[in-house]
Amino acid sequence: MRVLVNNEIVHREDVRIDFEDRGYQFGDGIYEVVRVYEGEAYELNEHIHRFYRSAKEIGITPPQSKNEMKSNIEDVITENKLLEGGIYFQMTRGVAPRKHQYEKEIEPKLIAYPLYFTRPEKQQNEGVSVLTADDLRWHRCDIKSLNLLYNIMMKQKAHDSGSFETIFIRDELVTEGTSTNVFMIKDNVISTHPADNNILNGITRMKVLHLLNEEHIPYEEKSFTKQELLDADEVFITSTTSEVMPVLKVDEQVIGNGLPGILTKRLHSLFLHDIKSPEIV
Ligand code: PMP
Repeated sequence: MRVLVNNEIVHREDVRIDFEDRGYQFGDGIYEVVRVYEGEAYELNEHIHRFYRSAKEIGITPPQSKNEMKSNIEDVITENKLLEGGIYFQMTRGVAPRKHQYEKEIEPKLIAYPLYFTRPEKQQNEGVSVLTADDLRWHRCDIKSLNLLYNIMMKQKAHDSGSFETIFIRDELVTEGTSTNVFMIKDNVISTHPADNNILNGITRMKVLHLLNEEHIPYEEKSFTKQELLDADEVFITSTTSEVMPVLKVDEQVIGNGLPGILTKRLHSLFLHDIKSPEIV
């Protein structure tokens, strides 16, 4: 495997991560996962914009320009001959003697490498079950931080019970999943939590909203309660790896008629169509 380390692509064996890297000690850094279809990064510009935004919010200056980062990531795809999967990239604040506060001069550490996975077709076709849990995370979920402890705990809880995802509830309202955004459909109107500090504004979420606009399908960026979720006609979750994933059960309660919803399936096919005809930016 070839890995990007700041501005250089090296063999995996030659990557050196210092034990005093603040990413290792504090989770002091940010990340992205971009999907690769047929050797092309999907929505790479959007992922880079979000990466820079997260970096700015925690006060790290990336060691390269957005365009350099873009071409470096494209090189990682080429050098690894990656056709299907993703690229993980993360940046930590860098190496320093361990203390909470930091000097501004630390050199950030950027790495990017391929992830090998394919579309979860079976689950997309058959639908999945999810759990719910109190959203005990901090109030800056808009930052794609390396600190994922509660997300991990709740994803593992779902996994251990044979569910696909855990959906968070904050102050009675559905926010998002541990690694997905949540949508519900009631009487043909689609709702999803607004993109504020309590969710990550998913690239897939934004793409779905864009597709809804294009198709003149009504939607609102408005939060809803767990009860409204349970009473929905259709529920689906979105993410880079899941795309548009139908949810058939929430906490063991069946949603709608218990089958992947018609509008959900239509949105997934619009999404698949979009991958094949990416917009020129
Ligand atoms: N919310 C959280 C907490 C996530 O980790 C993710 C996955 N990055 C998402 C939503 C979905 O975002 P995207 O569509 O950009 O993958």
